[in-house]
Amino acid sequence: MTTKKKANAAGRALVIGGGIAGMQASLDIADKGFRVTLVEREPTIGGHMAQLDKTFPTLDCSSCILTPKMVEVGSHPNIEVMTYSEVIDIGGKAGEFHITIKKKPRYLDVKTCTACGLCAEACVQRGRIPNEFDMGIGKRSAVYIPFPQAVPQAYIIDPNNCLMLTRGQCGKEPKCQKVCTPNAIDFTEKDETITVSSGVIVAATGYDQFDPKLKPEYGYGRYKNVLSGIEFERLCSASGPTGGKIQLNRKEPKRVVFIQCVGSRDKTVGNEYCSRVCCMYTVKQAHLVRERIPDAKITICYMDIRAFGKGYEEFYDRIQRENILFRRGNPSEIYKRGSSMVVRGEDTLLGETYEEEADLVVLATGLVPKKDAGEMSKLLGLSHTPDGFFEEARPEETIATSRAGVFLAGCCQGPKDIPDTIAQASGAASLSCAQLTKKGKTKDLRCR
Ligand SMILES: Cc1cc2nc3c(=O)[nH]c(=O)nc-3n(C[C@H](O)[C@H](O)[C@H](O)COP(=O)(O)OP(=O)(O)OC[C@H]3O[C@@H](n4cnc5c(N)ncnc54)[C@H](O)[C@@H]3O)c2cc1C
Repeated sequence: MTTKKKANAAGRALVIGGGIAGMQASLDIADKGFRVTLVEREPTIGGHMAQLDKTFPTLDCSSCILTPKMVEVGSHPNIEVMTYSEVIDIGGKAGEFHITIKKKPRYLDVKTCTACGLCAEACVQRGRIPNEFDMGIGKRSAVYIPFPQAVPQAYIIDPNNCLMLTRGQCGKEPKCQKVCTPNAIDFTEKDETITVSSGVIVAATGYDQFDPKLKPEYGYGRYKNVLSGIEFERLCSASGPTGGKIQLNRKEPKRVVFIQCVGSRDKTVGNEYCSRVCCMYTVKQAHLVRERIPDAKITICYMDIRAFGKGYEEFYDRIQRENILFRRGNPSEIYKRGSSMVVRGEDTLLGETYEEEADLVVLATGLVPKKDAGEMSKLLGLSHTPDGFFEEARPEETIATSRAGVFLAGCCQGPKDIPDTIAQASGAASLSCAQLTKKGKTKDLRCR
């Protein structure tokens, strides 16, 4: 393990998490002339928004909005992006935090790699490893780039699946290394520990998708035609494993059922809160099915539809006119009958039970705190609310926290849509800049 020390930079901010929240906060702070260190755990920035196909309510292409921002972050002179890295220690206080970051080895030099892709073509594991970005629906090589627009534009070697790294050899010599003309591959790379100083910290670590296996009655994991919300986004995406064709085993599903509130507003799984985005993303996904499979029978099973944002009610109203059946009441189970799946439930408006055959069921999986949110909140010196998300200073003040100089942005504070995430991130950037211009003096933002 090598240790590098970065020179102290006055007026530096640390942003943890490179989703849309962390990217927006970084850009806003950097545009004001402050230096930013953006630490992202994954090999690329982008977060969940990179996995989405279209965004509600405008149906804009998600990557068309996101990727220019990713490029801007990656090339901004005031932003240092550290991907495949994690913060492991935070000391000090507002104005003078001392941060230790662990940078995992990519086994490939980011600056030398030209992202030509020849290594992935040559890899003996080509097309064998489930691609995490496509939620395992598509496959990749052991040397890969998460998606074509990734930032940084560089490949990475997966230490758990590369034969060279797991067994110490890959044929006579690793083919990836043989075809890499810029000589970017280095199997001897090790973890690095880097220390930086910063005046403020923006936590933007986002969310995890609810694990639908915790609702076994819906058969997720047992039936291949039951998908989660994000899996369905990848199936719809032009950059996804089917090139945007909604197909399972190369067959178009003609009967599609969406089930709302999976893991949200559900005391049986301990999540009483509303995930806020699932109603709208389901309405959006139902529209995508109608657009791509015009003769499909589409049903949305819901508890009630929450269309709270600007233009959302109008969007919901428009989609209702697309020949989609809205059934009130969430189904009690999904089971297999012959080659079809059967969704069984009670329509609470009609007061009758029903059984509906389906070729595809999409679960509107809710947003839950990151698996390591507890550890992260300890590291940041923050508390969390009973739902497990990071706690804000006061209910009406969602950006400042109980620790001076530490601010929140995006879904790490609670589920929210992209517009609210961006607004909160810009707010976090504004409070960060206010703190940084205090030239080292600390101020508890809770006291006014
Ligand atoms: C199926 C689905 C569809 C959706 N569709 C829409 C839509 O159409 N319109 C809309 O407005 N919203 C939609 N949303 C909501 C949208 O995904 C969120 O609003 C948005 O992604 C929140 O961004 P974020 O940056 O807060 O979190 P994330 O996107 O989760 O990003 C967090 C980032 O932090 C990184 N990270 C986490 N922990 C660490 C750590 N310890 N150290 C370093 N990095 C870390 C993660 O790797 C990730 O890159 C949808 C959500 C789902 C589930």
